[in-house]
Amino acid sequence: MRLEGIHHVTAVTGDVRRNVDFHTRVLGLRLVAKSVNQDDPLVYHVFYSDEVGNPGADLTFFEYRGAVRGRAGAGMVHRVIWRVASREALDFWEQRLNREGIARLRDGDTLHFADPEGLAHELVLDSSTDAPRIADHPQIPHEMALRGFDGVRAYVSDPAASGEFVERVMDATRREGDTWELRGDSRGRTITYDAAPAEPGRPGAGTVHHVAWGAPMAQHATWVDTLRGHRVGSTDVVDRHYFQSIYFREPGHVLFEIASDGPGFARDGTLEDLGRTLILPPWYEQDRARIEAALTPIPDPRADWGAGAGR
Ligand code: ZN
Repeated sequence: MRLEGIHHVTAVTGDVRRNVDFHTRVLGLRLVAKSVNQDDPLVYHVFYSDEVGNPGADLTFFEYRGAVRGRAGAGMVHRVIWRVASREALDFWEQRLNREGIARLRDGDTLHFADPEGLAHELVLDSSTDAPRIADHPQIPHEMALRGFDGVRAYVSDPAASGEFVERVMDATRREGDTWELRGDSRGRTITYDAAPAEPGRPGAGTVHHVAWGAPMAQHATWVDTLRGHRVGSTDVVDRHYFQSIYFREPGHVLFEIASDGPGFARDGTLEDLGRTLILPPWYEQDRARIEAALTPIPDPRADWGAGAGR
C-alpha cells in the first residue's frame, strides 16, 4: 500500500500574524484555512497551501502565543524542502528574500533560508513529473512560484533503522544515501534521515511538530491494521474535519500521521472564501463568540490585492 507523498507538515509559531505575513506575502502561499487546535480552542491552527488547498503543499502551524524558539533535535523534522521550476526561479527567490532582509544561502541549485522563527527551508529544482501545487500571488509569476514540497529532512539517532522502517512498513523506495521516497498514484515526496546532533531537541516556535503522509480515505482502516501487524503503536482513525488521521511514531521518534486526501479545505464553503472565516469543530461552535474574542484577529492576506491583481 503506497502513500501519496507528504500530505502536510505541521509546525509551531509563537506569533501567528507574523507567520501569516511571511507565508502569504513573502512566500506567496495561500492561507487556505484558519481553525483551532481540536483539543484547545484558544490555540490557532493555520494552514497554507496552493491555490485550492491541495495536499502536497500544505504547511500548517499551531500558534502558542509568545512561545520561545525551539531547537530541532533527535526525533524532529528540521527542514522543509520545496520545489521550484528553474534556476531563474532560484534567482527570483534569492532576490526576493534579499529585499525582505532574510538571510539566505545559494548553494548551486539549492537555496537555503529560514522563517522568522528559525524553521529551515530549502528550495530545489523540480525534477519530478508531479502536478505543481501553486498559489496565486500578484508579485510572484507562476513560473517562479513554489510548486509544493519536495520533501523533509529529519534528525534521528539511527538513520538506517528509520529508513528500514519507512521501506518495510510504509512502502518507501530508497532513492540515494539516506533519502527515501514515498510515492503513490498522484505524487511522491521524500524524507531524508540525518544523524541527530548531540544537543537534544526542544519543541517551540520554529520547530516541526509532525509530518503527514497522504492516503485515500478508503485505506485508513487497513493502515491501522498494517501498523498493528508491524507492532507499531498508533491511534485509531481521528476525524480532523478536513481529513481523517492516524498518528504514530517511527523508530527515531519522529511523529508521523497518515492523512486522507479528502474531504479537504473547501468542505466549509467555496474555494474563493478559503481561509476567510474561522472554522471551528462542531463541538466548539456554541462558544464561537468567546473563542473569536480571545484569538488574535488575522487580517485577510488578500484584502489589498484589488480586482484583477491575482492571476
Ligand atoms: Zn497533521
